[in-house]
Amino acid sequence: MPAITNHMPTAELQKLDAAHHMHPFTTGDELAQKGARVITRAKGVFLTDSEGVEIIDGMAGLWCVNIGYGRDELAQVAARQMRELPFYNTFFQTTHVPAIALAAKLAELAPGDLNHVFFAGSGSEANDTNIRMVRTYWAMKGQPDKKVIIARKNGYHGSAMGSASLGGMAAMHEQGGLPIPDIHHINQPHWYAEGGDMTPEEFGLARARELEAAIAEIGEDRVAAFIAEPVQGAGGVIIPPETYWPEIQRICDAHDILLIADEVITGFGRTGNWFGAQTFNIRPDIMTIAKGLSSGYAPIGGSIVSDAVAAVIGSGEFNHGYTYSGHPVAAAVALENLRLIEEENILGHVRDVAAPYLQQKWEALTDHPLVGEAKICGMMASLALTPDKATRAQFAAEAGTAGLICREHCFANGVIMRHVGDRMIIAPPLVITPDEIDILIERAVKSLDGCLADLK
Ligand code: PLP
Repeated sequence: MPAITNHMPTAELQKLDAAHHMHPFTTGDELAQKGARVITRAKGVFLTDSEGVEIIDGMAGLWCVNIGYGRDELAQVAARQMRELPFYNTFFQTTHVPAIALAAKLAELAPGDLNHVFFAGSGSEANDTNIRMVRTYWAMKGQPDKKVIIARKNGYHGSAMGSASLGGMAAMHEQGGLPIPDIHHINQPHWYAEGGDMTPEEFGLARARELEAAIAEIGEDRVAAFIAEPVQGAGGVIIPPETYWPEIQRICDAHDILLIADEVITGFGRTGNWFGAQTFNIRPDIMTIAKGLSSGYAPIGGSIVSDAVAAVIGSGEFNHGYTYSGHPVAAAVALENLRLIEEENILGHVRDVAAPYLQQKWEALTDHPLVGEAKICGMMASLALTPDKATRAQFAAEAGTAGLICREHCFANGVIMRHVGDRMIIAPPLVITPDEIDILIERAVKSLDGCLADLK
């Protein structure tokens, strides 16, 4: 077999890829017919594909490359750590410096009394940890029946059996016998699609109160926790109405339900603070983290846990762990990533420069004939494509068609935007500059124009 390198012709790479590489969330037909786009390099906010085409990455990889591509500091730290201690586990009363340092740093950054970290290799693994942790917590407190976890329709918490069960996307539950028992889903606070005649504020309250109704139905003594993303990401960047989170917090407090904030996307600056919990004034008992923790440079995730929960879990043995929990190379890379975010005041850049500029440009897109709504929270944003702005109608054709068409134009125009049904979403690297935002918006508008022309 010839050496497979960046220099191989694209068609040959695609053929080998389709023959041997099984992709997440991709159909085999798509791969065989069109081939996958081959990304070869990246720097800052730009990707380059195997044809030499330069693409602006409006999705920061998969919502993760917060610090931008090509940061040599992270490569240096990874190489140094690989030479010094490439691997050791954290099981059976053993530890190492990168895991200690990263856990201590996360305890410093996390709000309130979230001072303890259980590491995982990804967000999915971390949410699986959370399921076992909250159920174990209540069992150790003498309430083994308090094990139902309430989550939301159209939420996304990962692809492992537990985390995908927490998620509320119908398509994911159609495969593999999901959900696992004792997971209950309530409706999402998606005003644009589901709010009808209510104001966003009324609707936010109504959807939050579905949690209280579910607790009443299931029984307070059977509900362990509620889990939600501060802003739903994969569901379409659904920013809840202002009334939603205060009411959810009140309900969790009133009914002795643990609150898990899944910060896999919203963590590490995405909403303008270290965590979405700070942006929305939430007091979680556990936060799920991954993605921006290492800016995607190494696979690592985890659960940041409150003093109270950690004290109970630590009073016995938690029979849970992953070979790569606290992996030294991933932990060292994450720590360096956090150091750079702090040293370069990347949160300040988001708050004072990038987010306000992007907001102004993004909200102006509602002038486009296809755009019914433009929503933004920090550096995550969505557009609702609609045939009728006044009624917030959906396209008569199969839902998602307009989004898919728009995404094809994005590909052709050198910009990565993702589509979720007929919503177009972005979450660019946090370090994006105003000039680069101009490029992103210009290519987005061109793609919307192309989509509009195709739909006519
Ligand atoms: N939680 C949220 C909110 C996510 O958006 C994701 C991934 O997109 C996950 C969990 C799963 O993380 P991972 O893909 O690292 O397993």
